[in-house]
Amino acid sequence: MRKNKNIINLVSNIYLSPSNFIYPLFIVEGKNRKEEINSMPGVYRFSIDCLLGEIDACLDVGINSFMLFGVEDRKDELGSWAYRDDGIVPSAIKKLRDVYKDDVTLFADVCLCQYTVSGHCGLISNGVIDNNKTLEILNKISIVYASAGVDFVCPSSMMDYQVKSIRKALDDNGFHMVGIMSYSTKFNSSFYGPFRDAALSRPQFGDRSSYQLDYRNPSLAILESLKDVEEGADIIMVKPALAYLDIISKIKERIFVPLAAYNVSGEYSMIINSGLDLEKVTMEVLYSIKRAGADIIISYFAKDLFLKMKGF
Ligand SMILES: [Zn+2]
Repeated sequence: MRKNKNIINLVSNIYLSPSNFIYPLFIVEGKNRKEEINSMPGVYRFSIDCLLGEIDACLDVGINSFMLFGVEDRKDELGSWAYRDDGIVPSAIKKLRDVYKDDVTLFADVCLCQYTVSGHCGLISNGVIDNNKTLEILNKISIVYASAGVDFVCPSSMMDYQVKSIRKALDDNGFHMVGIMSYSTKFNSSFYGPFRDAALSRPQFGDRSSYQLDYRNPSLAILESLKDVEEGADIIMVKPALAYLDIISKIKERIFVPLAAYNVSGEYSMIINSGLDLEKVTMEVLYSIKRAGADIIISYFAKDLFLKMKGF
C-alpha cells in the first residue's frame, strides 16, 4: 500500500482545504498600522485600512472565513467599547461587508477580556465573576455585531447559558440568520499566553479557572459541548487543539453539528520557534487536528500554508 506516491495518495482520505479554515485577525484603532506581535512572528495587528491587503492575500489562496478580534486599550469596568457601534470590531465588520459583500464569511469573537480593566471574560461583582450580568453584555455585543453584518457571533467567555441567551437576543431583534459558533469546550490552558499579549487581555488578578474547563475532566468537557448544542449553537469548538485531540475525537462521535478546533497562539509560537521544518511540521499538525475529527480549523498557519501549497 506504500509502494509509490500514487498508491499512497489513492488510499489517503483526509484532506486540508482552505475552505475549511478560519483565519484569525487582530484589529486595532487608527490608520496605517501593521504591527507584528512579538511572541507570534508572522502574525500582525492591523488597523482597518491595512486589513484589506491581508484579506486579499487570503482570498487569493482560497481562505474566505475570518475571525475578528478587537484589540482595545480603552478599557473600563463594563467593557463598553465591546458593544459600541463605533467600536473596532463593528467598524471592521461594516467595512469588510461593504468591500467584499458575501465573498467573505465573518466570525466575531464575543467576550469581555479585551475590553475590561480586570482582563476577565466576565463582569466582576464583589470580587467574583457575575455570570448573569455578563450575559446581558454578551447579548448587547452580539446584537451590535449582527447589526454591523457579521455572519457568526462567537461567544468565548464560557459563561453558563451564554448560547441560549445570545440566541434569544438575536432572534428577538430580527437576526435569525446570524449563527452562533460557540467556544463550547474551552480549557483553562497555558497555550493562550501569546494571544493575551496580542489582544491585551491578560487577567489583572487570579486566573480563569472558575469559568474555563479543567483539562483533567474529559466528561465535563464533552458535556459542555452537548449543552451548547442544546442551547442552539450552530458550530461548536474545542480550544486549544493539539493537547486536546482526544476531546475533539470524542465530541465528534457524539455531536452532529460542525466541529471547529482552535489551533491556538501557544501552539503556533511553539512550532514557529521549534527549529523544525516549518512547512512539514505545520502540515503534520494540521492533519492531526483534521484526523481527530475537526470539520473546521482556526489557525494562524492557514494563510502561509496555502500560499506554500499553491507555490507562491
Ligand atoms: Zn475572554
